[in-house]
Amino acid sequence: MFSTDEIRELFLSFFEKKGHVRVRSAPLVPESDPTLLFVNAGMVPFKNVFLGIEKRPYTRAVSCQKCLRVSGKHNDLESVGYTSRHHTFFEMLGNFSFGDYFKKQAIEYAWEFITQYLKLPEDKLYITVFEEDEETYRIWRDDIGLEEGRIWKRGEEDNFWQMGDTGPCGPSSEIHFDKGEGEEGERYLEVWNLVFMQYNRDEKGNLTPLPKPNIDTGMGLERIASVLQKTKTNYEIDIIRPLVAFGEELSQKRYGESFEVDVALRVIADHLRAITFAISDGVLPSNVGRGYVIRRILRRALRYAYKLGVQEPFLYRGIDLVVDIMKRAYPELETSIGFVKSVVKGEEEKFINTLKNAMPVVEEIIHKTLEEGRSSISGAQVFTLYDTYGFPLDMLEDIAREKGLYVDMKGFEEQMELQREKARKHFKITSKEVKPIYAHLKELGKTSQFVGYDQYQAETKVI
Ligand code: ATP
Ligand code: MG
Ligand code: MG
Ligand code: MG
Repeated sequence: MFSTDEIRELFLSFFEKKGHVRVRSAPLVPESDPTLLFVNAGMVPFKNVFLGIEKRPYTRAVSCQKCLRVSGKHNDLESVGYTSRHHTFFEMLGNFSFGDYFKKQAIEYAWEFITQYLKLPEDKLYITVFEEDEETYRIWRDDIGLEEGRIWKRGEEDNFWQMGDTGPCGPSSEIHFDKGEGEEGERYLEVWNLVFMQYNRDEKGNLTPLPKPNIDTGMGLERIASVLQKTKTNYEIDIIRPLVAFGEELSQKRYGESFEVDVALRVIADHLRAITFAISDGVLPSNVGRGYVIRRILRRALRYAYKLGVQEPFLYRGIDLVVDIMKRAYPELETSIGFVKSVVKGEEEKFINTLKNAMPVVEEIIHKTLEEGRSSISGAQVFTLYDTYGFPLDMLEDIAREKGLYVDMKGFEEQMELQREKARKHFKITSKEVKPIYAHLKELGKTSQFVGYDQYQAETKVI
């Protein structure tokens, strides 16, 4: 049986033998692309090469790229835990041709690798092609020799790729593995996407052929490992199962016990990898941009652990395990491990009390809302959670969505406005009296003392 480490190496060396230069994974933060929060595909670090802006001393490259799909066009955050095949952080294997070989060669390489090297049985493989791309259809049928029933034609939505509204674009062809059961996306597991960048789209939407077309492919390492290791989901493969076990030990729950437990254990395993790699690549949890995305992921892991009864900081303790499993492929993890751990621990400690105080209230609100047959959490309730407990609104929205509810943000804004109004009035009245009081205090040499929120909290009742 192939280990994931073996598959990664096999892929890189296979394409090296075919004249490709092995390129190390770029960091998760795109080096020269402010429009993108995180690298979400193997082609991202080569974007300028594809656009012809940058020249490299090679025309064929192969890589295994760290990817994070948590924002923008590719956001898989909410699928994580629920599907068998999605992660936030994952590794994408890819081979690239910059104006060198094209469709026929790319398809032949992919087929050779998957059937000769990985030895996947042909009768389990299905191919999709763009419905207008006859050339690709013929290559699969005539050159590779597939029966017509194995080649499925799909529309633009599934099988036409573009970098943006304008710029390089083209049809794609995807290789799927039939797992024998599950709904369509789950049964016919998409493992490898071959993109044929052959046009340029202008502002008017017109397509003109590129003088030298390119190849960009992407295969999810965890997905192909799950096929080869014959696991039900990506989460039982050799490099992820130990992280699920970490959650099991922590919560004293068993993977396989129930769907809810499985989802939570998968989320914890996934998010642990994501935050370890992101922080190690220099993204610090914060209130804005990339940092906020990482903070959200970290807090989400805490929330799912809370569901399993874990109410103390714990993620930082799993980082050793992530690094241990991944350090051979990503040695940079080892140099930052101490730092990553302290950042994660600090974040956990900051948030855990908010979670502990607010979750019973959130649960009560959700329970009542469902019981009363309402579809939304009222603005006043949201305001209480936000104002009294400091509960993050996006987390509340996540929880509501999971229960089929929505959050009345308009009502919340109205409450916020009321609060501002009150504060303004209060300020007008008190500011008149403030000056003499301060002057008096100053005379007495006294300073103010903070007495806490208790009084205020007691006044703000949950509706
Ligand atoms: P799906 O339809 O399953 O969501 P996709 O079409 O969005 O996948 P691509 O953008 O084509 O995926 O990415 C190339 C390959 O990367 C996919 O064929 C798959 O093997 C892998 N991949 C994509 N998204 C994920 C993810 N969230 N987690 C793990 N692997 C992924
Ligand atoms: Mg997707
Ligand atoms: Mg797809
Ligand atoms: Mg795809």
